[in-house]
Amino acid sequence: MTHDDVSRENDGRDVVLCECFARDGLQHETAQLSTDDKVALIDRFAAMGFARVEATSYSNPQVVPQFADASDLLRRLPRRPGVFYKATCANLRAVERALADADAGRGANEISLLVSATDSHSLKNLARSRADQWENIRAMASAASGRFRLVGTVSMAFGCPFEGRVDVREVLADVGRFRDAGVLHVALGDTTGTATPRSAAALFRGMRSAYPDVVPIAHFHDTRGTGIANYMAALDAGVRHFDCAFGGVGGHPTRVKYGGGHTGNVCTEDLVDLFETMGVRTGIDTGALLQAVEACEAALGRELEGRVARSGLNPLRESAEPAESPGGAPGSSRAAAP
Ligand SMILES: [Zn+2]
Repeated sequence: MTHDDVSRENDGRDVVLCECFARDGLQHETAQLSTDDKVALIDRFAAMGFARVEATSYSNPQVVPQFADASDLLRRLPRRPGVFYKATCANLRAVERALADADAGRGANEISLLVSATDSHSLKNLARSRADQWENIRAMASAASGRFRLVGTVSMAFGCPFEGRVDVREVLADVGRFRDAGVLHVALGDTTGTATPRSAAALFRGMRSAYPDVVPIAHFHDTRGTGIANYMAALDAGVRHFDCAFGGVGGHPTRVKYGGGHTGNVCTEDLVDLFETMGVRTGIDTGALLQAVEACEAALGRELEGRVARSGLNPLRESAEPAESPGGAPGSSRAAAP
């Protein structure tokens, strides 16, 4: 992939955050943002330094009307060099739409493919068994034929509300199945916030050890207030890629009810503030963080859940702690900087 050469991911930042507000965040919001508003937000995220931005989903517009404008949004979106704009793809038809947009010169440069770690969740969320979804993923990855960076996501990787504990060996086998399908970035999703710092570290250590050629991505939800603690454990286990959303918005899996609890994403502004204060370089302009929260709150018409937006940025971040290199990953990333 030629865009890897100039990717912001290798510009010296220690960690790579993917801002998920515009897709994972908006998917279950009742408010319908205009395409112009979405474009402005996504471009704001890229302008403030994000190397990856989840932009939209090629969903069935009958089922997820929020992303009926996927192609139009991508057509209007200004591109910034080195930034990956991700679109999620649920099925082969979605990949075909992504390919058509790419052929027209206005597509996403990263697409994501989803599998559930358990059959019960797979049937509820994707209306397919795991076996069927793996057939589906192989067909999608093959159809994508090297046109995009492919990102696999294993949801319920740390536990499932329907089946309880998830077999770690099966999650690792899923990482291997993605790799065998040519998917070399794999996110492990803590979809309902059941991971702990210990289980997070153990699974990511296992993944890095078993599949050193696959880039691990942490996608944790803050359902029980453990999101940031789990991200710290993942960082210590050598993970460099983290998904987050401004205001902690989003994270509700499609049409699946787990009860009335909060299942939001890890809050971007809180995570960036913590990392930067620790001396872990995010590449994000912290001076633009709070204005971005305000823009997201204005778009949704309500106050969002982050702490830093209420308390202010950590005043000690200007004299950031000397960065350690937990797990070796952040330090080694510097060696790879061009
Ligand atoms: Zn999420």
